[in-house]
Amino acid sequence: MNNSQQQRVCILGSTGSIGVSTLDVIARHPDRYSVYALTVHTQIEKLAEQCARFHPKVVVVGSASAADGLRQLLLHAGLQDIQIEFGPQALCDVASSAECDSVMAAIVGAAGLPAALAAARAGKKVLLANKEALVMSGSLFMDAIKSSGAALLPIDSEHNAIFQCLPRHFDGKPDQHGVRKILLTASGGPFLHRDVATLNSVTPEQAVAHPNWVMGRKISIDSATMMNKGLEVIEAHWLFSVPSERIEVVIHPQSVIHSMVSYNDGSVLAQLGNPDMRTPIAYGLAYPERIDSGVDALDLVKVGKLNFEAPDFNRFPCLRLAYEALEVGESAPTILNASNEIAVQAFLDGKIGFNLISKLIEQCLNKMPVTQVSDLEGILSIDAEARSVANSLIKK
Ligand code: NAD
Ligand code: MG
Repeated sequence: MNNSQQQRVCILGSTGSIGVSTLDVIARHPDRYSVYALTVHTQIEKLAEQCARFHPKVVVVGSASAADGLRQLLLHAGLQDIQIEFGPQALCDVASSAECDSVMAAIVGAAGLPAALAAARAGKKVLLANKEALVMSGSLFMDAIKSSGAALLPIDSEHNAIFQCLPRHFDGKPDQHGVRKILLTASGGPFLHRDVATLNSVTPEQAVAHPNWVMGRKISIDSATMMNKGLEVIEAHWLFSVPSERIEVVIHPQSVIHSMVSYNDGSVLAQLGNPDMRTPIAYGLAYPERIDSGVDALDLVKVGKLNFEAPDFNRFPCLRLAYEALEVGESAPTILNASNEIAVQAFLDGKIGFNLISKLIEQCLNKMPVTQVSDLEGILSIDAEARSVANSLIKK
């Protein structure tokens, strides 16, 4: 912390859905938080607006041309004192800078891994939204957190809920704390009860229309296939050291219970709230305190009913594939994640039908050998190979 005890925050992916919600919470508490760095890939106009409001010290964009464009915008706005950097190394530099205390890892997909890992290695307070990073690098990432003494706060709403329902000083040993199971809730997405025979003809617009949450396009498609829940099963395994057979997915269409922990004595602890990511973000930012997040109090009478059902693995093959990849371990989750990213983009681009997303991932997992992964370079090379295998399957 700096002298004023203000938390200096770096937001990786500040123009995304999580990034914007993070800035919304920060804006409510100028006494507690200052913005050290903001990073975006291409949306420089939106970034310039954020710069005018939050005055970061540094910003990072995706390319030299985006940096040039931003320089013009900041010059016009009289904000030329803000340092502009670009490219992947600059992301790692701001995430590990001595000038920041907390890093919100909210870049979407594998692109966010190196910077999230850099923050973990630098011992930052890591607010982890970027689940793909943990799916790809589970043991490496958790080792980095442990050896640097970083604090890891899960921002994914389910994992944040579980974190809140576990004992305060949970040390990754579920049996010693009487934890029987993690109950991971899932809304089931927009196609929970749609006729399976019609699934292949759904459009990207239908698939991104999540019933309860407003999110980026990639995670919205992941929610429609339930790969999102699959990635979250793997995420929960690494965060809480629970084996896959003790992570149970429960469909809960209202998204009011964000997840639960089932204990040996029969107790089940749940965290409830309106589906708004500002709650887990505020919890992560202020932990162990609680601050206003801007989210309305939950009106249970208005909610009326809470329903639950078991997931249908035939309707949602991606969920099965994720459990299998976790069981296989080693490079399998990295292959799962990379081929999913390619398949989702191909679906969004209108190149493949909805049902082909899971088929493509399964083909990639079958095609590629499972190998040991021990360092970032190895993980990134498997990620690249899986992307090229997935792309070649799409072209066929
Ligand atoms: P989004 O698409 O809205 O935003 C993504 C951000 O990442 C943008 O700021 C973009 O500029 C940046 N970005 C994209 N590609 C990049 C690249 N190659 N290099 C550098 N930056 C890049 O995504 P989102 O919905 O905010 O999700 C962000 C992460 O949080 C994802 O991993 C998602 O799974 C996770 N998450 C999101 C939600 C949610 O409610 N949106 C909930 C839980 C977890
Ligand atoms: Mg989630």
